[in-house]
Amino acid sequence: MQTCAPLPHSARPTDFDFLKVIGKGNYGKVLLAKHKADGMFYAVKVLQKKSILQKKEQSHIMAERSVLLKNVRHPFLVGLRYSFQTPEKLYFVLDYVNGGELFFHLQRERRFLEPRARFYTAEVASAIGYLHSRNIIYRCASERGGVRPYVLMKDLKPENILLDCQGHVVLTDFGLCKEGVQPEETTSTFCGTPEYLAPEVLRKEPYDRAVDWWCLGAVLYEMLHGLPPFYSQDVSEMYENILHQPLQIPGGRTVAACDLLQGLLHKDKRQRLGSKTDFLEIKNHVFFSPINWDDLYHKRLTPPFNPNVAGPADLKHFDPEFTQEAVSKSIGCTPDTTASSLEASSAFLGFSYAPEDDTLLDC
Ligand code: AMP
Repeated sequence: MQTCAPLPHSARPTDFDFLKVIGKGNYGKVLLAKHKADGMFYAVKVLQKKSILQKKEQSHIMAERSVLLKNVRHPFLVGLRYSFQTPEKLYFVLDYVNGGELFFHLQRERRFLEPRARFYTAEVASAIGYLHSRNIIYRCASERGGVRPYVLMKDLKPENILLDCQGHVVLTDFGLCKEGVQPEETTSTFCGTPEYLAPEVLRKEPYDRAVDWWCLGAVLYEMLHGLPPFYSQDVSEMYENILHQPLQIPGGRTVAACDLLQGLLHKDKRQRLGSKTDFLEIKNHVFFSPINWDDLYHKRLTPPFNPNVAGPADLKHFDPEFTQEAVSKSIGCTPDTTASSLEASSAFLGFSYAPEDDTLLDC
């Protein structure tokens, strides 16, 4: 567990020792880094401006920054500590979360029993409810905007649900969030994780906050059954299933779990659970009756699984494919040109951020 520490008011690459690669996204890498002055560990997401500009994705990145900024204080959303830029790169300095990806643990165990799935689903729902209350749609974002080629998907699950060192959920990756969506408003960009795409997104219809409750249903389904709902190895068949096949729920689940899945995975977004009073409907569903939501929010519920990490430098839950990779020297260099002078002329105006108040880390 890291101790609490005040943060300085600006940051640049040379402030950090970049220790290991711990993950990869579409535009760059995520690295474990140690702040030289205070010895704290952070996850630093380093994005290549060139690839972002080539794909015309500046607005997604700025959305990620602004969503991260807005939400640093929610218990199940990753906190952004700083963001800064150099001529070539953008840096997000995030709380370091080292209990592993939820779906990494799921793949190892194949499926979870209902109490464990309930705990994670409740923490994810609490974070989504909070985002909705701030007029943000989470949309089950993955780092790949748009539909991924199937070859990339074979062992890819929504890697944006991480576990912290105690086993609580932390949602990361806000690159595909839509900001400023009012309860009655809809939006229609086609992106998301293919297995989890809601029917209205597939049909390229305008969609609203109910899309996140579909995604929550898909996460719960996969936790209970080991595969996403409507799954097929053939992506077009999977889309067909999402659009037209009735939901199949394998036996052995409680009535409450089946009812919740049917409610969340309702093809008609207007009839979907959550479409009327949003998170309140989810909270009040009988499947969650064992959950005290106030205790859940305050992390007073003991997580059903302890990732057993030895300390912040313990990388056992990260893929050796990443951690064995050499860290590029250019990542820790601060070029002569100052970030502030560049910002005026850059496509990422206003990207840099440092906290105004001293901030505390709990894990
Ligand atoms: P992203 O580009 O946000 O999807 O991140 C790619 C991968 O890096 C994720 O799937 C995680 O395994 C890892 N990662 C992202 N953010 C963090 C974080 N704050 N702490 C630890 N690992 C992270």
